[in-house]
Amino acid sequence: MSKSPVRFSYEFFPPRTDSMQSRLWRAIGQLERLRPLFFSMTYGALGSARQVSFDTALAMHRDSPVPVAAHLTCCGAGRDEVDAVARGFYDAGIRRIVALRGDEPSAAEKSSPGYRSVIELIETLRGLGDMDISVAAYPEPHPQAASALADLQHLQRKLDAGANRAITQYFFDAECFLRFRDRATRHGIDKSIVPGILPVHDLERIRSFSERCGATVPPSYGALFEKVNGDPAGQYRLALELAVELCERLIAEGVDRFHFYTLNQTDMCLDISLALGASLQPATQISAA
Ligand code: FAD
Repeated sequence: MSKSPVRFSYEFFPPRTDSMQSRLWRAIGQLERLRPLFFSMTYGALGSARQVSFDTALAMHRDSPVPVAAHLTCCGAGRDEVDAVARGFYDAGIRRIVALRGDEPSAAEKSSPGYRSVIELIETLRGLGDMDISVAAYPEPHPQAASALADLQHLQRKLDAGANRAITQYFFDAECFLRFRDRATRHGIDKSIVPGILPVHDLERIRSFSERCGATVPPSYGALFEKVNGDPAGQYRLALELAVELCERLIAEGVDRFHFYTLNQTDMCLDISLALGASLQPATQISAA
């Protein structure tokens, strides 16, 4: 039996300045040529303005041939507001959503009446019509999970509520993902779990972010990056090698889809994808995959 080709999706965050805007569109132009499954646009992540997320997702949907998945978080906003955004995406023709609870706001920021759970949001999205819904999954349990089992049970509820697949938080140890996938299968989860891959652009930033989101940065990375300290080309090569090695190990275990956290820096994700067998289409022949 021939193996299915490896396919990719790429996540961007909303640009805050004109120069970030130009970088985003340059990134989109480059990655379009790989005919990805979809581009995704985060919503309100890292303090980004929700209106910019919304407007940028719509602009990507309008101006790029690649399908767009709009992220949508449901906590920290009133139900009416979230529903209006969901309806806005749907009416604009966006049919892919990454449905998230989001990080819980402080008591002072809480607006009510809001969604109590992402499961209710999934039900609302299903009610809008034909929607392709992705949800988040955590190979290393979410910091708020009561246990690894509770985390998995919650994932199953999200998929049972109508989500089509899960996309994982990033991780750096292939075995961590593979063990998680095995546990999910044993638990009865039969929908696709797509690994989220974050190239190591900046080890210190990733270390600090990982402390908050519960991802483990391998201790060996410290010594590896120390060797290329002050050598941007060496750092780039090392980060590329680590990401390709991680993905190749997963491909050997049957993984055929990857979701890249680009951080709007595209060269690395482009090079990783090419190393994994993606091919560049001539710019004139790009159309929806
Ligand atoms: P949930 O899955 O609802 O909850 C998180 C965890 O809490 C669960 O895994 C579970 O352990 C526990 N939990 C929650 N409810 C229950 C329950 N009823 N019973 C038992 N346990 C429960 N953040 C943004 O702000 N914007 C984005 O665009 C964004 N995109 C993301 C994309 C991906 C692929 C991933 C992996 C994360 C993204 N995040 C984003 C981060 C995300 O918002 C945070 O991780 C947030 O803390 C949890 O959101 P969730 O949808 O996973 O929540």
